[in-house]
Amino acid sequence: MTDNEKFIEECESKLSEKFKEIENIAHFNQKKVLNAFSEHRVAARHFNGTTGYGYGDEGRDTLGKLYASAFGAESGIVSPHLLSGTHSLTVALFGILRPNDIVLCVTGQPYDTLRGVISGKGDGTLEDFGITFRYCDLIDGDFDFEAIKERLAEKPKTVYVQRSRGYELRDALSCEQIGVLCDFLRKNGFKGCIFVDNCYGEFVETREPTEVGADVIVGSLIKNAGGGLAPTGGYICGKEKYINLIGKRLTAPSIGLEVGSYAYGYQYYYQGLFMAPHTVAQALKSSLLIGMAMGELGYENYPSLDKTPHDITRAIKFDSAEKMINFIREVQHASPVDGFVDCEAWDMPGYDDKIIMAAGTFVGGSSIELSADGPVKPPYIAYFQGGLTYEHGKYALTRILNKLLK
Ligand SMILES: *Cc1c(COP(=O)(O)O)cnc(C)c1O
Repeated sequence: MTDNEKFIEECESKLSEKFKEIENIAHFNQKKVLNAFSEHRVAARHFNGTTGYGYGDEGRDTLGKLYASAFGAESGIVSPHLLSGTHSLTVALFGILRPNDIVLCVTGQPYDTLRGVISGKGDGTLEDFGITFRYCDLIDGDFDFEAIKERLAEKPKTVYVQRSRGYELRDALSCEQIGVLCDFLRKNGFKGCIFVDNCYGEFVETREPTEVGADVIVGSLIKNAGGGLAPTGGYICGKEKYINLIGKRLTAPSIGLEVGSYAYGYQYYYQGLFMAPHTVAQALKSSLLIGMAMGELGYENYPSLDKTPHDITRAIKFDSAEKMINFIREVQHASPVDGFVDCEAWDMPGYDDKIIMAAGTFVGGSSIELSADGPVKPPYIAYFQGGLTYEHGKYALTRILNKLLK
């Protein structure tokens, strides 16, 4: 055994209690998912695709119900026609919001790709349709309840929450925190929609935001919820009245959720949900192992290891662009696909900064698969996430250590 391998074993043994906790959560969520499969009597015929209009596509309809049940929601849309997390969030917002509505975003500026959906003139943004966003920043990793209370006087129609950190150093919000927010909003007379960007948060805890009072949750299927198998797509789950409105936006107001075919079939979507609790646990364990090892080597990283993680991402801070890029390149080199590539930062659509992204993945750009990314600018933070297997995470760490300690 090399010194680095010994060091990794030491890190693993320090994490054994955390790992146990993660496995228990995965076990709980596996039961939840299997109960949903049982409730909806999933059978092989649901995997079949349809063509054309897709009237009566049982696979599509049952898939929406299945995700809704797994997330403790009334209704759901799960579709390969939701092209990404950003697209799913966009369809959901345009479905719910109307001219002159105010949205109160209580987690500061939302994720980079959403900013160009919200504001800017001429591109068909929400601003173009007369919808205004107001912001309250988080304070010390929690909601600024006083500021929120003041803003409620402006009568917002929707309150927007981003669970995961995005390209920020703050930790993800727990469902407990989101639950406290929901109670607070209702106690203060808010009757509108509590909307949560749930990207990277699915199955990390035993509950989802819809189980603690949120009305709508949205996420990408090439992150947690697709279990590493869904080839593309997104989900939107929540209260039936909102999901119906959103369905009319996904297709057309006159047809809603009664059309939409997918000739390829839905097996990977069903199987992906089945796998998701386990896959998320693999990613969480990989994240903790890398966090422990990098921390021991003096690299500041978050969430801190004495806290229970609330999403699968890990932010690791480097003191130079070169070290950050080397780290990200090594994640790519440890990947099964395109492992021979040296990543370069590029103008990724929807981002203002140049982004470097390691995603040597089977599904293009999937970040439930082992991946790392970030804007190349001070304070040089690489956001690491995913790993379909813990062994892959561990292998990548071995390579990263060999490179960093050389
Ligand atoms: C990834 C992510 C998105 C956007 O998802 P894409 O699939 O990349 O468009 C939105 N919000 C958060 C918090 C994310 O992590």
